[in-house]
Amino acid sequence: MNQDFWRITGIVGFSLVAGLLAGHVFLCVAAGTILVFYWYRERIQQLLIWLRRRTESTPPDVSGFINDIIDEFEHLRTHHKQRGEKLSGFLRRFQAATAALPDAAVVLGEFDSIEWANEKAEQYLGLRWPQDSGQRISNLIRHPDLIRYLQQTNERNFHKSLELASPVNHEQRLEFRVIPYGESQRLLMARDITEIHHANKMRKDFIANASHELRTPLTVIAGYLENFEEDRAVCPPDWMPRIKQMRQQTARMQRLIEDLLQLSSLETPSENRHTEEIRVADMLGSIYKEAESFSGMMHHIFYLETDPDLWVRGNQRELYSAFSNLIFNAVQYTPPRSVIRIRWYRDDRGAHMEVIDSGEGIAPSHIPRLTERFYRVDKGRSREKGGTGLGLAIVKHALSRHDARLRIESELGKGSKFRCDFPLSVIVNKPSAEQRDRRA
Ligand code: ADP
Repeated sequence: MNQDFWRITGIVGFSLVAGLLAGHVFLCVAAGTILVFYWYRERIQQLLIWLRRRTESTPPDVSGFINDIIDEFEHLRTHHKQRGEKLSGFLRRFQAATAALPDAAVVLGEFDSIEWANEKAEQYLGLRWPQDSGQRISNLIRHPDLIRYLQQTNERNFHKSLELASPVNHEQRLEFRVIPYGESQRLLMARDITEIHHANKMRKDFIANASHELRTPLTVIAGYLENFEEDRAVCPPDWMPRIKQMRQQTARMQRLIEDLLQLSSLETPSENRHTEEIRVADMLGSIYKEAESFSGMMHHIFYLETDPDLWVRGNQRELYSAFSNLIFNAVQYTPPRSVIRIRWYRDDRGAHMEVIDSGEGIAPSHIPRLTERFYRVDKGRSREKGGTGLGLAIVKHALSRHDARLRIESELGKGSKFRCDFPLSVIVNKPSAEQRDRRA
């Protein structure tokens, strides 16, 4: 900076003196200023040419503030280069790590366009990197379930996964997971679960086959026991209590087998499960009648409040089974002459079926585990009442096939509330009785 000051002062001073001597002060000072301007213009031109070369050539040999700019630029360039090397090292390590991942990983940007994919993404999903860069994933993998999953997954529900066959190899089963990060980016991971899938399928098939095989011999045994009980001529009277006990146990085994078969059918994916339009009020009406006769001498006091115009789309058999399990449980676990309330209504979040009893209630520690298979608060009590321990597991599976959820609230000694929450999407918009009358 000092150099520039002395250079400009020297030239302007010299032209001033020369102007005074020659009697043309203005002309000489103007000439001096133009000279300074041209000198700097020349140096800046050299600087620009050097900068535009973008190579590491030797900088122009200039002094003063232009040299300071060059020094500053050189410093920035070295810093930038070091950062670039650090970043590319990091990128190399990241790519090596993700290439070694056993799972497919795809980075999705805005509108689910592919920003990056690892090698396994080609093997599992058929995506090629970098050829498919910028393409929307839904244009390359046209599976409706995956498209719906990507649309529905957001910051709140990203822990949900989706199981699908690989678009490249239909024998391979993949588990998809989407993890949102940054402003609009998401990481799509696909894990090979073929072996787990086969093991699960074998387990389910085994339970279904074993239950199926046991069904016929048990029916025969139950038939003979019934004959013995009814035909007193063939059965000595002192055998009667044993025959009765054998019949009770056979009936329990039959219920267990029916429940196991029902659970395994609920676990089997079905294509057209949401086809029936169901008037739930009618269904609850007939379960209510059965529950009343099941209650029999216990004389429970039932209240049934249902919206007759609230229909849902689903599977009649599955919903019947879910609702009847909840209502029959209420009868089983509520003392005689107590109140049982059944409600079917809608609000702005969806449709709800509620069974409220005034029975023994359930301690909070048991509630999260109630829908597990064979989980019972009191094993002896459940057996004594003819329970299989599978009822609530059936309810949970049947509801999840209707995108519905079971909520349990209970207080020991006061009673329990079991509520099935159905989303708005399963409600069928039918004209109400009032609207139909008006139209007629
Ligand atoms: P179970 O065949 O034993 O009734 P469930 O799966 O239907 O099997 O229910 C699991 C357990 O939850 C039951 O054993 C019982 O302890 C408890 N339970 C279910 N419904 C009620 C209820 N309405 N009141 C109190 N406890 C209940």
